[in-house]
Amino acid sequence: MTAHFPFDNSYVALPPNFFARVAPTPVAAPRLIKLNRPLAVQLGLDPDLLETPEGAEILSGNQMPETAASIAMAYAGHQFGNFVPQLGDGRAILLGEVVDRNGVRRDIQLKGAGRTPFSRMGDGRAALGPVLREYIVSEAMAALGIPTTRSLAAVLTGETVLRDPIQPGAVLTRVASSHIRVGTFQYFAARGDLASVRALADHAIARHYPEAAQAPSPYLALLEGVIGRQAELVASWMMVGFIHGVMNTDNCSVAGETIDYGPCAFMDTFDPKTVYSSIDQFGRYAYGNQPPIALWNLTRLAECLVRLLADDDDKGIEIAQTALGGFAEQFNAAYLAKLAAKLGLFTSQPDDQQLSQEFLTALAKGEADFTLAFRRLSDAAVDPSDLGEVRALFADPAAFDEWAPRWRARIATEPQDATTRQAAMRRVNPAYIPRNHRIEAVIRAAVDRDDFAPFEEILTVLANPFEEKAEFARYAEPPQPHEQVLETFCGT
Ligand code: AMP
Ligand code: MG
Ligand code: MG
Repeated sequence: MTAHFPFDNSYVALPPNFFARVAPTPVAAPRLIKLNRPLAVQLGLDPDLLETPEGAEILSGNQMPETAASIAMAYAGHQFGNFVPQLGDGRAILLGEVVDRNGVRRDIQLKGAGRTPFSRMGDGRAALGPVLREYIVSEAMAALGIPTTRSLAAVLTGETVLRDPIQPGAVLTRVASSHIRVGTFQYFAARGDLASVRALADHAIARHYPEAAQAPSPYLALLEGVIGRQAELVASWMMVGFIHGVMNTDNCSVAGETIDYGPCAFMDTFDPKTVYSSIDQFGRYAYGNQPPIALWNLTRLAECLVRLLADDDDKGIEIAQTALGGFAEQFNAAYLAKLAAKLGLFTSQPDDQQLSQEFLTALAKGEADFTLAFRRLSDAAVDPSDLGEVRALFADPAAFDEWAPRWRARIATEPQDATTRQAAMRRVNPAYIPRNHRIEAVIRAAVDRDDFAPFEEILTVLANPFEEKAEFARYAEPPQPHEQVLETFCGT
């Protein structure tokens, strides 16, 4: 089996203060519940071998391949605005890195593999519910075309974990471009360890921003690169109604992937103030706050890099501020371009921003379902009578009624035919998102009845979010009032 993990570990070559060497804690009775076979192939792993009992032993941490890295990474982070100088992988253990079929280096990590020197009061374990949630949502994000960590496998441990209520234990195998976070930089910067900040920056450049190495100022190019990818990422989240829920700096990936799916959720009814996370009492990470919070996190990264940007601190701060100033511009450009595409606009005209904004205002005022409104609007591009289907989504359609004829007039100024527009809109307006009430039902079936059929089905539906299938129609529907999930929990 060992030979089938072609590990090529680079993080362990960094200084020893970057991580702790630790082995997973064995579990009682590993049982594979899901293997992501296409992803395994992409990583150069043998899916058939991973589906054997020996595969389950490895994916649960009971057996470590000889060449595994087996480390917990050190990091710090701002949690809800408060700095914690040491967090680190408290329950995640890096199996190792592989170079995938596209030549991209990827981390393979076991989440829920037992205690580490960073566990603090935690048990080092993960519960089945949150593991299924992360599996579903991360794979849905990938299918939506949004940069994200991936899920390679989910394994039941045969043990229970002490949560309220008690749950089956599980281990998620997570795949990421890397697990370097803004908080990883903060860990060293907070200790005044500039040599380590530099070593980490060099590693991040080589791994994620190789073009930065050629720039006149590589560390500035690194900062600009992270700013650019985060701007693009958060703009993509906004387009699908995704609310991360815990945008702490330790959950902000330097590679620009969505990472750490805890109490995340997709919004049903459009309202920028939407918060699902039970721990986000003040709405710091509400849907509409995500862009400024991303900038806040990037500002923390910039602070770590100031000393690398110039010999003189004042100069370094000035350079960092200029780079951070680029965030708004990049975010707005990405956001408006994506929103225009969702509305079926092929060209750019002066009033488009207003037209787009007014659609969002109409959705909010009318309490309409975000995903379905855009999807149905795609069809109304062909047949104006379908506007009635969009209208039916609004509790109060007054603002929409005022908006719709202006949208019709606007698209009529472009030469593209209606079916071309509809097809283009359908490619960016998903029919299926992982709605909370659906995820809840999947988790209930698995946790309460050991029934994983709904889990398999939702994965099938979400693998092709832009292609409607009659048999999956119910997955496109918003929750009925009694099905609504108003709060999501970390569940850790
Ligand atoms: P998160 O809220 O998932 O981003 O995690 C914040 C910190 O808590 C990280 O350092 C995690 O490794 C740690 N942590 C979360 N859950 C556990 C757990 N069950 N056992 C140990 N550490 C944990
Ligand atoms: Mg985290
Ligand atoms: Mg987490």
